[in-house]
Amino acid sequence: MFLSTAVLQYTAAAASDRGRKRPTNEDAFGFSVEDGVYLVCDGMGGAAAGEIASSIAVDEMLRLLTRRSEGDSRAASMPHLAEAAIDAANEAIFSRSQRNYKLNGMGTTLVGLLAEERRVWVLNIGDSRCYRLRNRRLEQITLDHSLVEEQVRLGRMTRSEALRSPLRNVITRALGTQSRITPDIFELEASPGDLFLLCSDGLTRELTDQLIESVLGTDLPLDGLCARLVEAAKKAGGNDNITCILVRASS
Ligand code: CA
Repeated sequence: MFLSTAVLQYTAAAASDRGRKRPTNEDAFGFSVEDGVYLVCDGMGGAAAGEIASSIAVDEMLRLLTRRSEGDSRAASMPHLAEAAIDAANEAIFSRSQRNYKLNGMGTTLVGLLAEERRVWVLNIGDSRCYRLRNRRLEQITLDHSLVEEQVRLGRMTRSEALRSPLRNVITRALGTQSRITPDIFELEASPGDLFLLCSDGLTRELTDQLIESVLGTDLPLDGLCARLVEAAKKAGGNDNITCILVRASS
């Protein structure tokens, strides 16, 4: 009997753009293919606070999750490691905002992907998103922590009402705005050919899932796909900062 133990290889590319309307880019991203860590954060707060919150989150998470540790124990304890890193990032942002009144209330979304062989964990706080393209079909992995998404899930609002709602920017969970935060953690098994997209809402507000699916189905290298997504979002309005990371699993 032969058991396949083929190890998946991951490759990644990213792009981030200010968009066409905002004076600065408050999104931040970071990744380490070697450590299997991929992060997108969308900061919020007055003055430069959003930029500070999103970059603290990415720096702290990368620092804590890219420390090399023994493979088996790392996989076994990944959700625990992820929660500890999120706690530390939350504390770093929150304490910084408490020390400086100009930074009061700053926070950030966080969407992250952690890969260890075939096992993948997706972390989410806020309304940045993770999607998976498998067999040319796009599937949203994360659920937005937003007021309108919650209303839709409760059956009190339709999808199209949510898209037009003046409250569509209100998120119900953010990193760094309170002393404690609980992330969603989704555990998945990756297959060869899977393509994961992590992105800020500057992409998903401008492009429908169908359009994203058709772009990702194009036969282009990952950096070309990232550039095409950003260009499409800018062409559709570019009202917000746009960030995406693409992560491909292959055998
Ligand atoms: Ca945004």
